[in-house]
Amino acid sequence: MTTAPTAPDAAPSPPRAAIRTRVRIPLRFPDGWATPADVFTFTGLADGKEHIALGLGAHEGAASPLVRPHSECLTGDVFGSARCDCGPQLREAVQRIAETGGYLLYLRQEGRGIGLYAKLDAYALQDEGLDTYAANRALGRLDDERDYTAAAQMLGALGVDAIRLLSNNPDKAEQLTVLGVTVTERVPTGVHLSEDNVRYLRAKAEHTHHTLDLPA
Ligand SMILES: [Zn+2]
Repeated sequence: MTTAPTAPDAAPSPPRAAIRTRVRIPLRFPDGWATPADVFTFTGLADGKEHIALGLGAHEGAASPLVRPHSECLTGDVFGSARCDCGPQLREAVQRIAETGGYLLYLRQEGRGIGLYAKLDAYALQDEGLDTYAANRALGRLDDERDYTAAAQMLGALGVDAIRLLSNNPDKAEQLTVLGVTVTERVPTGVHLSEDNVRYLRAKAEHTHHTLDLPA
C-alpha cells in the first residue's frame, strides 16, 4: 500500500491535462449487455501513459458523478481470469455508472502498478504459497505502486471536481482527496467471490482494509 499524506492540502494540485479526442464507442459485454460510451483521450497526463475515460449514461453536467478508477488487468478484463475479480468488477461498474451517469477511468497500471510480466511472476510465487502482497515484495516491488495523479488530472479535464467514488479501496479515496478531488460519497462495489479468487480477496480485505464482506 502506498502511504498517502494525511492532510488534504499536503500535495500541490497536479498539472492541468486537456481532452485530446472524444469518440463514441458502442460497448457490448460477453453476456450481451450493451451501452454506448463516450471515450476520452487526454494530453498532459503526468505519467505519459495512454489512460482513457469512459463517459457513461448522462455523464455531462452531473453534479457529483459516479466515478470508478479501474486499473487495467489484462488477464481479468480481457481473458476472464478467475484469479482476481477485475472482470466482474469492471462489468458491474460500467453498468452502475451508465445507470446514474458518470465516468469509468481506465488506468494503465497493470498488476497494482508493477506491470503484466511481474504480475504473472507474482502469480507463480503465489502458487508456492505467498499471498498477493508477499509475492510482490519477494519480487522487490511495493504492495501497491498505483498512483492516481492521472486520474485526478482526467477528472479536472472533464470539468469534474466532486465525485461519488465507486470503490472498496480506501487508498483511492485518500489519494484522490489529496489530489484535490472532493469525494462526496464512497459507494461500495459488489463482492465477486469464487473458489479461485477467495485467497486473493481475503488478502486484500485483511491487508489494505478493502471494505469487502467475505464469508469467514
Ligand atoms: Zn485482475
